[in-house]
Amino acid sequence: MGKKRILLIGTGGTIASEMGDNGLEPELTSRQLLRYVPDISGICEIDCIQLFSLDSTNIRPEHWLRIAKSIQEGYGQYDGFVVSHGTDTMAYTAAGLSYLIQNSLKPIVLTGAQKPIGYDTTDSKQNLRDAFTVAASGMSGVMLVFNGKIIMGTRARKTHSKSFEAFSSINYPIVGMVQDGRLIQYIRPESKANTKFYEALDAKVALLKLAPGIECGVLEYLLEHNSALVIESFGVGGLPVYETGSFYEAVKRGLDAGKTVVLTTQVENEGSDLSVYHVGSSIKRNLPILEAYDMTTEAVLAKLMWILSLTTERNEVAELFYTPIACDIISVLEGGMNG
Ligand code: ASP
Repeated sequence: MGKKRILLIGTGGTIASEMGDNGLEPELTSRQLLRYVPDISGICEIDCIQLFSLDSTNIRPEHWLRIAKSIQEGYGQYDGFVVSHGTDTMAYTAAGLSYLIQNSLKPIVLTGAQKPIGYDTTDSKQNLRDAFTVAASGMSGVMLVFNGKIIMGTRARKTHSKSFEAFSSINYPIVGMVQDGRLIQYIRPESKANTKFYEALDAKVALLKLAPGIECGVLEYLLEHNSALVIESFGVGGLPVYETGSFYEAVKRGLDAGKTVVLTTQVENEGSDLSVYHVGSSIKRNLPILEAYDMTTEAVLAKLMWILSLTTERNEVAELFYTPIACDIISVLEGGMNG
C-alpha cells in the first residue's frame, strides 16, 4: 500500500509566527512550516494550502466555513487533513468543524503550538508530527492533537495559556495518545452514517457569563441582538432572582420573541443540572429553555450556529440540540427535553 495523502491547511497562529515590532505575528505558510519537520515526509505525502494567516483571536465562524469548504473540496483526493491553527480559539474551530463535517470517515486534525516553530524550545515540531501521525492513521472524525493527546473536536478546551499541555478534554476521555510517533487509540467513536458537509452557520449566537450582581439589561441587550443566547451560570445552573430586574422575565420575553436560550455552567467539569436548586428548576420547568448538560460551551455555541442555520422552529431546535453529534453530549437525562 502506498503512502497516505494528507492535505495541510495553514491558517496562522503562534506555530507560524515570527517576532515583529509589536509582538508575535503569523508569517509562515504551511509549506514553510513543513521545512522544519522534513521527517514527516516519511509518514505520508503532503500537499499544502494556505487559507489565511491570522492570529486565531481574529478567526470567526466565516473562517470555519472556509476551512470546511477546503476539506470538502479535497475530500475525494486526500486520506486525511491537518489544520494548523492558533491555539486561542482552536477549540471553537474544532467544535465548528465537528458540526460542519459530520460522520467524517477520514481524520481531520487540528493542531498548533504555544511556541513558534522557529524557536529553539518549541512544541511546534512535535505537535505537527503527532498531527500527521493521526491524519495518516485511518482514524475518523474531527480531532484536536496537542502535546501527545488526541481530543474529540467537540470536547476540547484551552485550559493553560502558556504550558505545552494547553488543552484538556472536558467531560469525556481523550481518544488516544501519540507517544514517540506511536499511536495509541483508547476509544473508537462509531460512525455508521454517511459523511455530511454543511455550508452555513448562523453566527448570531451570544455568550453571557454571569457574575455576582450582573445587571439584567446586558442579557436583554444580547437577546435582542442575537438569534440565541448561551448563559454560563453558576454551579449546576440557575438564574439569579434580584429585587431589581427579573432575569426570568427577560428570558421569557426573548423566548416569546422566538430566540433560543441555553443555560450552561461556567464550572469546567461535570456540567449542568438545572433540576437541583430552585434557582434552576423553576426556570427549567416553566420556560422552554435548553440545558447544556455535559457539553462544552465551545460546542454549545457552534452547535447552535449550525442548528439555527437549518431551523428556528423550537421543537426542531431542541431535538437537534439534544441529539448527540461527534460525542458532544452524553448526559441527556429523562425529562431533559423541555420544549
Ligand atoms: N494568539 C495565538 C493564536 O491563537 C496563540 C497561539 O497560537 O498559541 O493565534
